[in-house]
Amino acid sequence: MNNSLLNKLAAAALAVTLATSCGASTADSGDNNAKAQAVTAALPQCSGDSAMVLVVKQCDMGPRVPGTEAHARCATWLKDRLASLADTVIEQQAPVTTFDGTRLTARNIIAAFNPEAAQRILLLSHYDCRPWADHDPDAARRRDPVMGANDGASGTAVLLELARVMRDKKPSIGIDILLVDVEDWGDSDSDAPDSWALGTQYWAEHPHVAGYKPMMAILLDMVGAKGATFMREQFSDYYAGDIVNLVWRKARAAGAGNLFVNSVGGAVNDDHVPLLQAGIPAIDIIDLRPGSDHGFFPHWHTTADTPDKLDPATLQAVGNTLLAVIYNQ
Ligand SMILES: [Zn+2]
Repeated sequence: MNNSLLNKLAAAALAVTLATSCGASTADSGDNNAKAQAVTAALPQCSGDSAMVLVVKQCDMGPRVPGTEAHARCATWLKDRLASLADTVIEQQAPVTTFDGTRLTARNIIAAFNPEAAQRILLLSHYDCRPWADHDPDAARRRDPVMGANDGASGTAVLLELARVMRDKKPSIGIDILLVDVEDWGDSDSDAPDSWALGTQYWAEHPHVAGYKPMMAILLDMVGAKGATFMREQFSDYYAGDIVNLVWRKARAAGAGNLFVNSVGGAVNDDHVPLLQAGIPAIDIIDLRPGSDHGFFPHWHTTADTPDKLDPATLQAVGNTLLAVIYNQ
């Protein structure tokens, strides 16, 4: 993903919207929190340690850069694992051409729970790794690939862990997990927002089910770092503020309110943008650090994005927040 790609139209509208969304979010009372906590006490829980094992499993294959053997192996492993947990799994192969002219076949993997249910939530994460660590502090390493423990593997691991929970306790609504490919081969040197999220762009134009319209889509990106702060990403807040309100409320009920900061952070060009453009209400749960040079966690797009920078407690907090959404509709 890339930062600071807020287009002028959205920027103008944002100034108006921020007051509205902040007003709505602060209206949540302590009473509501107490009730929500009572309800969520019986909710299924996920394991941060299990999610961490799934991060390491992906990283042990090597950087999952599209076109490499590590990537191909990982995609097949993800598909096989989801096939053992979900009701249905399909792989969507998408011909894409990156900004530098590389032709790839993106592999989007889609798993469904309760495929017949009309009410559905879409959960997604990218699993590919960026081919170049172009923000590495060491200039000599900026052509090396990113391991993507946080940027790729973390969201994917949380969704795999949720799939395990949902296998054991079927949700009453339909849940789709979309693991998207070729998110991170974008052009960071120019203002070319369409160079990112190629797998999701393809899926948005060719959804796996004709006329597919989930109630909401929730994207996970960089959801495992120590010291993570999930601020209200600006596109999410502007275009789907009610869903941000819901998820942040569930986070507080799930005991993760310390990570889900109720203030607006930066605008990020990420996999939720093609979904919003397709008319699907979509939000991005993403670690935003306003104090850093680029607005993300310190090891973003560096060779140091490795499993040791992650905290199982962060993965678990995000997973349990989503479980509160899934089981408490
Ligand atoms: Zn990235």
